[in-house]
Amino acid sequence: MMGAMAEHGPIFSAMLEAFDDAARLLSLDPGIWRILTHPKRQIIVSCPVQMDNGEIEVFTGYRVQYNITLGPAKGGIRYHPDVTLDEVTALAAWMTWKCAVAHIPFGGGKGGIVCDPTRMSKRELEALTRRYVSEIIDAIGPEKDVPAPDVNTDAQIMAWVMDTYSMHVGHTETAVVTGKPVEMGGSLGRREATGRGVMIVTREAAKHLGLDIKGATVAVQGFGNVGSVSADLLAGIGAKIVAVSDWKGGVYNASGLDVAAMLEYAKTHKSVDGFPGGEALSNEQLFGLDVDVLIPAALENQVTMDNAPSIKARILVEGANGPTTPDAHQHLHQRGVFVIPDILANAGGVTTSYFEWVQDRYGYFWELGEVNTRLEQKMVEAFDDVLQTSIKYSVDLRTAAYIVAISRVGNVTRMRGMYA
Ligand code: NAD
Repeated sequence: MMGAMAEHGPIFSAMLEAFDDAARLLSLDPGIWRILTHPKRQIIVSCPVQMDNGEIEVFTGYRVQYNITLGPAKGGIRYHPDVTLDEVTALAAWMTWKCAVAHIPFGGGKGGIVCDPTRMSKRELEALTRRYVSEIIDAIGPEKDVPAPDVNTDAQIMAWVMDTYSMHVGHTETAVVTGKPVEMGGSLGRREATGRGVMIVTREAAKHLGLDIKGATVAVQGFGNVGSVSADLLAGIGAKIVAVSDWKGGVYNASGLDVAAMLEYAKTHKSVDGFPGGEALSNEQLFGLDVDVLIPAALENQVTMDNAPSIKARILVEGANGPTTPDAHQHLHQRGVFVIPDILANAGGVTTSYFEWVQDRYGYFWELGEVNTRLEQKMVEAFDDVLQTSIKYSVDLRTAAYIVAISRVGNVTRMRGMYA
């Protein structure tokens, strides 16, 4: 390709690999290709904070607006010692493709602060959040860039983001951020939205493959927000959750685990480890189980060439972001495993964030049933678009999801034309 390309880190390069495969199949115009592989804006800020011991520390923060062709940038803010500009840029690119697959009018963004929140007091976290928001204040806003929670950030931190922005502009502006507490402009159903989306695409995939979801066996890695809600809702439509694992351990019961009882148990024990309704099982054992559906919903890079050959599931649903390495994905696809990629499978979260933004701007809040009905429509539509594309191009669902996303962003880029 012509043109000067910036140096890429390993995470961004991995994103580009998937992008390039899909762009080649689409015969994407080289100019559009160049635009879509460059981040629109990368912001680096220094955030001085007076710590509880009186000393001043300076934290580095990033906000990347990868692409805003379809609407305001959308994406979380993560607090982690290992945050890098490469990672934030790749995550912002993935958000661009995820929003396009979900067919919502958002671009993609992501933010991060290099810090260790486990070693910071609540006051220090609030001071850091407020300083970070002040440093990027001109770049964010309901029409520009709408942050959300991500690793180590939660509804409380989003409340501080909203308050800091509102203080700067002089009025309450709820639509600047999503994932807020429901009392201050959050949406009903947001907490369960990602898991609900996982349940919907799993059900649709089973239907497509002629597998009866009633009685289908399911194993879930991770029992946090995404894993626990996915397990609970799949059990609700008749699937049999036979195994669950988390950071501490796992449980297995061939006749099906009592998910409601496990949710109660995990609340008090902070893990499913030791749950009396089944026998102990390791993460490695969970991946090798003879189940119909496997849902990695914990961390990235969990399905690798070390365990992919032992996977027996017919459907693998990526509840987590990036749980499957590219070589493991290739291997599973060749073996006929139906892999539902992250940018489709976990798009229920950002779709309901879009609903939250709509409700905030409208100033009228929906009942839970309305949120869930609209989410159902969006997820079924997204699943169908990706499935039909995979059939049309004879490709796996991940490549198909990229094709859908790149066509949508690329077409609008072409229609808008070049300014200047
Ligand atoms: P969470 O922190 O609520 O839960 C994570 C779960 O993973 C916990 O049960 C934890 O015990 C488990 N876990 C951690 N390390 C593990 C290990 N080594 N082995 C097995 N289990 C382990 O996080 P979450 O919000 O459920 O997010 C999970 C994944 O889904 C992440 O990849 C996240 O980026 C992605 N995701 C989340 C949302 C959302 O709305 N929450 C949306 C899209 C994508």
